[in-house]
Parts: sequence; structure tokens; C-alpha cells
Amino acid sequence: MKVRGQTRYPTVLMLEPLYTCNLACIGCSVERHSGKLKDRIDPATCFKAVDECDAPIVNICGGEPTLYPELKELVDGLIERRKHVIICSNALKLQEAVYEVIPPHNHLFIMIHLDGMKETHDAICARDGVFEKTIEMIRKGRELGYHIFLNATVYKRTELEEVEELCQLSDNLDVGGILISPGYEFASIREENIFLNTREIEEKFTAIIELSKRYKINATPTFLQFAAGQLELSCAPWSTVNYTPKGWKAPCYLIEGEGYFDRWDEFWNKTDWEYWESHQDERCRNCKMHSGFEHSAVIESMKTWKGKIKLFNWALGRS
Ligand code: SF4
Repeated sequence: MKVRGQTRYPTVLMLEPLYTCNLACIGCSVERHSGKLKDRIDPATCFKAVDECDAPIVNICGGEPTLYPELKELVDGLIERRKHVIICSNALKLQEAVYEVIPPHNHLFIMIHLDGMKETHDAICARDGVFEKTIEMIRKGRELGYHIFLNATVYKRTELEEVEELCQLSDNLDVGGILISPGYEFASIREENIFLNTREIEEKFTAIIELSKRYKINATPTFLQFAAGQLELSCAPWSTVNYTPKGWKAPCYLIEGEGYFDRWDEFWNKTDWEYWESHQDERCRNCKMHSGFEHSAVIESMKTWKGKIKLFNWALGRS
């Protein structure tokens, strides 16, 4: 896209075919776990969105994708379209919804939510026993040959020692790596004071940079520097677009700054990208999310030979 002269283009579609979940985690926006299954998007509409936006990576999230009755049809159709498909799951229903019906594929990745060790993870998921089940499903998935990654959100309560324990666990479970994000304070969340402010994010990620030298952390070195406050980046909300049961969400996965659009061309052409790139909006204040800034981090790295070499080494697992 860049070679073709396009400066804004989506690389990831966050496809949310349903807003139904079997958990109600304390850090998740309320609409994402309180929707009715009957209000889900049918596969044909999902494929229309996928074809219109044409992002090479489709991250099926929601809601909990394993509760989507047409998940196999959706994944098969995406793989046929040669997309890289990520199923973002809490793991509780992976056995029946994925392992028994969708075979491993080199374009299929399962991203499993794990926010800490037992006490923390069960508290964040607001249910006892989730941690054990999650670990059981990760082991099972690896035995069966699936590509599995972990996804952890860092909250105010998260101690750095526990982040390191999680990294060690991810090594022991032989997963592809762990994506660590600072939590975003969704407007609908009622629990108070659980999210990090910018200063706290920067402190935690300064330490996470050190961990990234010893563990497989799925964030580019430049993104980690940004999260640690060592450099500034503009936001690229158009790089990670979000299709939901309410339509295309503008500007990004996190906020309803410009509401929802039924049609892709309206969403793409009417959203004021320049405004959101500046992250001057009050709702962007504490945001250091991968969905907004990882694309900008890659573009920044590609500006110099030093940055390119660093990125290349990171991609080969040598940093
Ligand atoms: S800074 Fe965060 S909340 Fe604001 S537009 Fe970018 S991704 Fe969305």
C-alpha cells in the first residue's frame, strides 16, 4: 500500500461478529459482553466487511468468538481468502468450538486472554477456576499443533514480578509469545481506579523493555519505547479498523468518537483521521494501545537503517 502511495490503509480488521460473552471481565467494555446472540452478524455480512476493507489480518474478537455458532464457516471463508486469522478467546470453549471442528492451519492463530497468575486472572475474569481451564486449553492446543499466543493486559494492580511470571509461563507452555498491553479505560466500565495513568504506563513499560530482552514479547522495540515514554508517535487508528454488530466503529476499537457507519466507504471517507492521529482528544489521553500505535511504530522504525535492522532482528527473534 505504501509503495502504491497510500499513506492510510488498514492492516488489521478487528471483526466482532457478536457482543455476547461467557465472562464479564472487569476491564472489558460492558457492551462487549452484554449483547444478545440473536443480534450477531451473519457470516455473509462479515465477508462483505472483510472484502471491502481488504486488511490482510482478521482478528475475530467480540464478544467471545467461540460462542459464535458460525465460527467454522467464518474461519474457513477467511482462510479461503488467504487472510491471516486470529481468534481472540478466553479459552473456556476452545475444545468444542475450535479443537474438535477447525483443524490447525498456518494462517490460523489463537490469541488467548491471560491477565496474570491464578489469583489475578480469576479476579479480573470475575470467576474462580478460569485460570486452570485456560492453562489446560493452552496445553491441549499446543499438543494438537495450533499456533497459540497470549494476550495480557496490565492494570494498576499488576506487579512487575507477576508480568515476569507470566512471561516464564508463556515460555514453559511453548506458545509463540505474549502481547502485553496497558488497559484502556472504557467509558462504560464502572469499576474505579483499576487502570494505569500515562506515568504509570511509562514506568511499567520501562521495566517491560528489560523483560523483552529475555522473553518473547509480541511488541516491536519501537512500540515498547513509545509505551515507556521514550519517544512520541502519532496514532494510526485507520490501521486497525473495527466492524461490530452496530457497524464500522469510528475512529477505533476503543472509542465511539464519531459513532458507527453502516457502509465502509462512508466510514473511511468521513472519519476525521487527521484529528484522531493527533491524539489530542480527551478520550485519547491515557491511550497507548497496540491497535493505535503499533503501525506507527513500524513506520517509524522503517525511517532509518538502524530502525530497520532492529525491526528485522526482532522479527527473527534476535532482540
Ligand atoms: S489514541 Fe487510542 S483512543 Fe485515541 S484514536 Fe488512537 S487508538 Fe483510539
